[in-house]
Amino acid sequence: MALICEKCGNSDYKLTKGLCRDCEEERLRVIRATNIANTAVLAKDIPYYQECNYVVDIELHSITRQFNQYAEDWGGFEYNPDFQRGYVWTQEQQIAYMESFVSNVLSVQQRTITLNCPEFGNYNDKSPCELHGFVIVDGLQRVTAIQAFLKGEFKVFGKFTYEDLDNSRFSLRRKTIKVQVFAWRMKKDILEYYLLFNNGGTVHSKEEIQRVRAMLEDCKEKQ
Ligand SMILES: [Zn+2]
Repeated sequence: MALICEKCGNSDYKLTKGLCRDCEEERLRVIRATNIANTAVLAKDIPYYQECNYVVDIELHSITRQFNQYAEDWGGFEYNPDFQRGYVWTQEQQIAYMESFVSNVLSVQQRTITLNCPEFGNYNDKSPCELHGFVIVDGLQRVTAIQAFLKGEFKVFGKFTYEDLDNSRFSLRRKTIKVQVFAWRMKKDILEYYLLFNNGGTVHSKEEIQRVRAMLEDCKEKQ
């Protein structure tokens, strides 16, 4: 059965949005060209970053082994690159993080660790590259807390080790973190991302936490 294209009047056996195949292809070509032109104009004012190439869930007890494997396969694994703030969490902060894990109140974002490795999965990219191997971009404090708890360096809720939680709903054996791997090739790119990321994220200051704690105490008193 012959159908008539709204635009050119030619007949086609099948129409898309009333258009023949040629007119529909032309419509899509114009949309793509407009997207490229609009992007070029907006990009003068708006920074934009590539999406992460790879995301994987890793069980807590596998983190160290997996990171060692990355080091072996991809030319190193740097936990504390120079742009990181170093190991700054106190043991109290490590305990609080692990207690949140055990109580199941962490968001996906709080369980997401960001790594970078320019070579990872990019065998054919020949563009300039001054970075090499894996580095932790975000999540050093949290990874360190997990590793310390699994090694038995502190307890949660005053008395429980990792093993004490086994075979209960509080067990961490099956708990995972999300690891995302970017492939920035230039140091400038990784630093810009790091700054934007930490600027956009909502890091609660001590004062904020104290303010909400005070509100909670207020509520309890009124009960
Ligand atoms: Zn047509």
